[in-house]
Amino acid sequence: MAQAKLTIDLAAIRANWRALADLSTGEAGAVVKADAYGLGVDRVAPALAAEGARRFFVAVAEEGVAVRRALGPGPEICVFGGHMEGDAALLRDHKLVPMINSIDQMLRHVEALPGHPFGIQLDSGMNRLGMEPSEWSALREVALAQNPVLVMSHLACADEPDHGMNAFQLRTFREMTDGIDAPRSLSATGGTLLGPDYHFDVTRPGIGVYGGRPFVDAKPVVGLSLPVIQHRECTPGESVGYGNQHVCRVPTRVATVSAGYADGIQRYLSPKGALWAGDIRCKILGRVSMDLITVDVTHLKTVPPTLDLLGDRQGIDQVADAIGTIGYEVLTSLGRRYNRVYSGG
Ligand SMILES: *Cc1c(COP(=O)(O)O)cnc(C)c1O
Repeated sequence: MAQAKLTIDLAAIRANWRALADLSTGEAGAVVKADAYGLGVDRVAPALAAEGARRFFVAVAEEGVAVRRALGPGPEICVFGGHMEGDAALLRDHKLVPMINSIDQMLRHVEALPGHPFGIQLDSGMNRLGMEPSEWSALREVALAQNPVLVMSHLACADEPDHGMNAFQLRTFREMTDGIDAPRSLSATGGTLLGPDYHFDVTRPGIGVYGGRPFVDAKPVVGLSLPVIQHRECTPGESVGYGNQHVCRVPTRVATVSAGYADGIQRYLSPKGALWAGDIRCKILGRVSMDLITVDVTHLKTVPPTLDLLGDRQGIDQVADAIGTIGYEVLTSLGRRYNRVYSGG
């Protein structure tokens, strides 16, 4: 079988969520947007619910529908994008809770779904999503009178503990919400790690649950094993791959593995990236192509049946570093063509 194998450790996901939940002074929710960061919300959400998560967060209402299907009635499913035009039926039929981001959304919500639960998202300085302080002052009393289920904001620099923005946003969020009765939420993974001042009533960990920075103590969640389809000997002067990108200077044994940029393995991974044969690093040679990657296995005693892109020796953050991105993007880029194998559910 030439299909590459993506292993997803649900027990590690549960353990990571548990660790962040134990750290939180209040309740921990779980962020499962983007198909649970690419790992499959139909499997991940029930595993987290079994571990005790009761409040789930998604980006858009359509994602909430998939989470509701996976979880059944009961758990609260909050939609960061709020109540957009055309969302009313989805929100109503699947009991989703929009995080209202503006006065316009508030008006739309009370008009289309009077009495339907909602939360409020405030902008405490990131200038991305949520009501600004002036908008909030205008709406505050009316909105609070209708008992929002959550009042939340989001930190821009929580992965940099020493950044002054953290304290600034904490202060702003407090000024906007101190004294209200509704439960409050400010922190994703990074903010949860900043300490109890940042926790309020509900934390919203995402990436840490899936084994990524800044939760450096997370258990690794994903493994990605690529089958070697073929290997060959190249003599000095021969080239490898598209554009003759790599030219062999010494006799080289080249293994060709089955996965490529169509599977979310970015072309930027060459020329610096590597795959692993157990504990032995094997450099990528030449360009990553759509379905194939060529790798230097000259130094291995035997050519193994598979080489790993993700595993014990190289996690999502190491791959991200090699291509100049973040673990979030590596995860959410994982392709649809893998044989996805779940363990520990
Ligand atoms: C994505 C997101 C989270 C989760 O962030 P992580 O850094 O993955 O923990 C929490 N809150 C909001 C508003 C988000 O957009």
